[in-house]
Amino acid sequence: MPILYLVLDFIYPRNCIHCGVSMPEPLRYMCWDCLADLSMVEPPFCACCGDPVAGDVQHNFVCFSCSREKPHFDAARSATRYDGAVGEALRALKYESGIWTVPDLVELLYACVQAEYLNVSFDWITAVPLYSVRRRARGYNQSALLASALARRMRIPIKERRIRRIRPTVSQTGLTAPQRAANVSNAFRVGVFSRFQGDRVLLVDDVMTTGATVNACAGALKKGGAASVHVVTVARG
Ligand SMILES: [Zn+2]
Ligand SMILES: [Zn+2]
Repeated sequence: MPILYLVLDFIYPRNCIHCGVSMPEPLRYMCWDCLADLSMVEPPFCACCGDPVAGDVQHNFVCFSCSREKPHFDAARSATRYDGAVGEALRALKYESGIWTVPDLVELLYACVQAEYLNVSFDWITAVPLYSVRRRARGYNQSALLASALARRMRIPIKERRIRRIRPTVSQTGLTAPQRAANVSNAFRVGVFSRFQGDRVLLVDDVMTTGATVNACAGALKKGGAASVHVVTVARG
């Protein structure tokens, strides 16, 4: 158990992040009841982007947006909807230095990868990078923390600096789908010395909404030589 977590456990009294019940287990901040209450992303969803649809769809289908323009990623899946205990944990992670939420969140990522990408092999994991200035301001990249924890859980390598965000982008919140795509287009680039011909990559982010960010990132990874890019995010906005 990392010492940092032990220290954090000491500083923060361990209570469920959502309902406040006292947590018996170390490093855990989501109780069984709140986990059971999570709205998991369940089929039917688009075979490509994983966007869920309402209704009784039995067959394999690709949504309108993916059939109009095939995304750069091969598939994208998310564990839960962006609400309940997960919404609170992700907000704490992003805005309140809540790195103590990582062990709970990584279990959701791991379960999602196990369920959705059972037949896919990965050479390495990477995370959607932050622009350098923003990363310095926050002190960490929340997606990279999730990606490292997932890499340890899956026992595959993490390669963090293969891809860079080369210009600042405004927050995607409140933008329309076309604005989001324009905001992140050409925002990512693979380093000159990090070509990776034929590698199968698992790309991690905290939240996916329209998929514009992970798509731009997957495009850069493919340009760098990735044979496949599968995306996994904790939540679907
Ligand atoms: Zn709870
Ligand atoms: Zn789709």
